[in-house]
Amino acid sequence: MKILLIEDEEKVAGFIQRGLQAEGFSVDIASDGEKGERKLRRQTYDLLILDLLLPKKDGFEIIKSLRGDKSSIPILVLTARSATEDIVRGLELGADDYLVKPFAFSELVARLRSLARRDKTSSIILKLADLQLDTVRHQAVRNGSKIPLTRREYNLLEYFLRHPYSLVTRRQLEEEVWGYDYDPGTNIVDVYINHLRKKIDHPHSIKLIHSVRGRGYIFTDRPDDLKKY
Ligand code: CA
Repeated sequence: MKILLIEDEEKVAGFIQRGLQAEGFSVDIASDGEKGERKLRRQTYDLLILDLLLPKKDGFEIIKSLRGDKSSIPILVLTARSATEDIVRGLELGADDYLVKPFAFSELVARLRSLARRDKTSSIILKLADLQLDTVRHQAVRNGSKIPLTRREYNLLEYFLRHPYSLVTRRQLEEEVWGYDYDPGTNIVDVYINHLRKKIDHPHSIKLIHSVRGRGYIFTDRPDDLKKY
């Protein structure tokens, strides 16, 4: 697997490169944003490790132009300690995951392997429209605002994000989200959906949770998905 690392701190870049090579990855380094973009244009990489604060062109700009060009290369962002706003902004622009410096090398490798086999079911950051769910930190963010969730609301939202754009029946939610905790004959699912709606959809104009009368729910931002039912 071929990785591009865009990082201006020489020591950090060298450390990551040597470590990843020892794990069997091939790693190119670019020391500023412009050099990084040139390499991305000329070669095909499987993965990008991107420092956010870079000379010439910063990491945010790079993510923006890659995603603007419809590149789907997995991007892992590196950022300084406690830069929560940077992390949120990076993810909103289209980064897939992040690590806060300093990080344990084993964690970097684990994240890269997970990104490399990424699909809807293994992704760490689940997204739909402007909503994101970090499945490691159990953190939901919509349009830049963090949304506090209870454990049950989190489970419900994660289930929806793993089954977007099509009908999810009430029965499915009872079995998959509640499991043997489910008390038949109650309307607990609808009650929780209402809680989640208030947190996720209110006051946004684009609603994500839609009811299909008598059947269940669809989690989508595309009105056409609702016409099928
Ligand atoms: Ca830097």
